[in-house]
Amino acid sequence: MGENSKIEWCDHTFNPWIGCQKVSTGCDHCYAEAMMDHRYKKVQWGAHGERKRTSEQNWKKPVQWNAQASTSRKENGHRPRVFCASLADVFDNQVDSSWRRDLFALIRECAALDWLVLTKRPENIEKRLPPDWRDGYSNVWLGTTAEDQVRFDFRWKRLKRVPAVVRFISYEPALGPLRLPQNGLLPDWLISGGESGAGARSLRPHWVRDVIADCRRLGVAPFHKQWGSYDSNPLVVEQGMTAREARAIDAEGKGGGLVDGKLVREFPRQNRRSLELRLRSAG
Ligand code: SF4
Repeated sequence: MGENSKIEWCDHTFNPWIGCQKVSTGCDHCYAEAMMDHRYKKVQWGAHGERKRTSEQNWKKPVQWNAQASTSRKENGHRPRVFCASLADVFDNQVDSSWRRDLFALIRECAALDWLVLTKRPENIEKRLPPDWRDGYSNVWLGTTAEDQVRFDFRWKRLKRVPAVVRFISYEPALGPLRLPQNGLLPDWLISGGESGAGARSLRPHWVRDVIADCRRLGVAPFHKQWGSYDSNPLVVEQGMTAREARAIDAEGKGGGLVDGKLVREFPRQNRRSLELRLRSAG
């Protein structure tokens, strides 16, 4: 599945295959499973489920985006960002290794795109990267989801061992407080967001404020995507508004997205190493 994305932090979404297995509480309300398994019966989820490679046609889409990248960059002021993958996990052990080889070949080919590879299995990254990864491809940002402190402590420890031009945390769905360590290696970027959809578990606004304060103090770029539902929006939780009243003031994303009246949507600065790598691969 390749498409122009509605996700606020990327321009396109690309799914090289579909299918996955739940690994932690952040997966409880997996949107991909609800759509692809329960609703459309396209892919059976779970340990004994399937992984279905998407069509050749779909795999050509990033090549088209790559060809249009310089126009897109002029229009949007940044290199096009591709989220990979929303209906699967790139570092899932049950995926045929040849599919992952093909994916990394495509990523190399589409060098004008920044690929945001997000996983809940950072413990698998090192052994599943291509042999020419070395200091990281100049166009790949590696991220891991951390829905609470326990997952952050476990997963960041694994991700930070892997060289990458940008390493990021997706604190979404935020299901418990999460604070960044005061010293040691830190992610370059942190996306936060509440759970959306039926039965969404609410978050406490101060979890988001606290982690954004950590980001500011420690030089990590924060990006608050949305509250997920108005039950988590501070205008409702803290100021007693109805969801309707809150929506009239804050209609960003799902459940609104303003943090104390402002959007907090920053991106990591491309570091010197990513530019050097890019120049090296171009030359
Ligand atoms: S890792 Fe992602 S795609 Fe896989 S089950 Fe969990 S939420 Fe769904």
